[in-house]
Amino acid sequence: MDVYGLVGNPVGHSVSPPMHEAAYTELDMEASYVAFEPAVAEIEAAIDGAETLGIAGLNVTIPFKQDVLELVEPDPLAERIGAVNTIEFRTEGTPRGYNTDAIGIQRAFEHHDVDLEGRKAVVVGAGGAGRAAAFALSDAGADVHIANRTVDRAIDLASVVSGGTGGSLETLESQLGDATILINATSVGMESDETPVPAELLHTELTVLDAVYAPLETRLLSEASEAGATTIDGAWMLLFQGVEAFEQWTDRQAPVEVMNRALRSAL
Ligand code: NAP
Repeated sequence: MDVYGLVGNPVGHSVSPPMHEAAYTELDMEASYVAFEPAVAEIEAAIDGAETLGIAGLNVTIPFKQDVLELVEPDPLAERIGAVNTIEFRTEGTPRGYNTDAIGIQRAFEHHDVDLEGRKAVVVGAGGAGRAAAFALSDAGADVHIANRTVDRAIDLASVVSGGTGGSLETLESQLGDATILINATSVGMESDETPVPAELLHTELTVLDAVYAPLETRLLSEASEAGATTIDGAWMLLFQGVEAFEQWTDRQAPVEVMNRALRSAL
């Protein structure tokens, strides 16, 4: 039996266990996926313990994604983003760390037949999800502008993203007019009726991905639909970061449709 899991605090409402378990059932794998909630100060002991116990892989969520970077050998993308959300324990040596949030974003666009190459993209937010989004877009060939409430974080992030620019939330007005990609990577809209982007800035040429997945139809996505934009909800990002972790751990092709159904019925 291979044991996989998630470490975070809290993890009570995580939909990762049903999503991964659905894949194991579909592929007749002897595997299980468990959510662990170590105390915030105990993450190092938790990772060491997981390795000692022979756990095959762990996803990592809030508040541990940055702390874990120091405890694993991060791949170059995770190192650039500065956060790890997937750990692979190997028979020998330091565990490997990956960031599948960025690849999850790229795969979510790809799944919706949206090519990112040469596009003008705007990311709202410069925290963990914002960093993953900015690198995902830039690595896929988009020109990226980052707008964030704390301006310095946007400017710092823009300085390490190839061709990136950064500014305050006020820059949305000047940047969104000729943009065709918009990602909300702030927590604004999470279980609330708020939006980080004024409705009058949304237009038909945009494809809007919201990282927020509770509710699935955020105010931003609903106003984007009204403006004639294409929308991609946060469950797609969540799905494809999980699909990518599954494939990294098992070297098998993930049953994407089965995982998508399990995820959406758990949300
Ligand atoms: P984080 O590191 O704490 O960053 C939070 C971001 O939101 C920062 O840019 C912050 O701006 C901004 N923000 C917070 N409150 C705001 C407000 N009232 N007005 C304007 N900006 C505000 O969090 P995170 O890990 O990046 O997560 C961000 C969101 O993405 C969360 O809702 C999370 O659930 C979601 N997420 C989804 C997925 C997925 O797979 N769908 C994956 C990862 C994260 P400041 O810098 O000014 O504080």
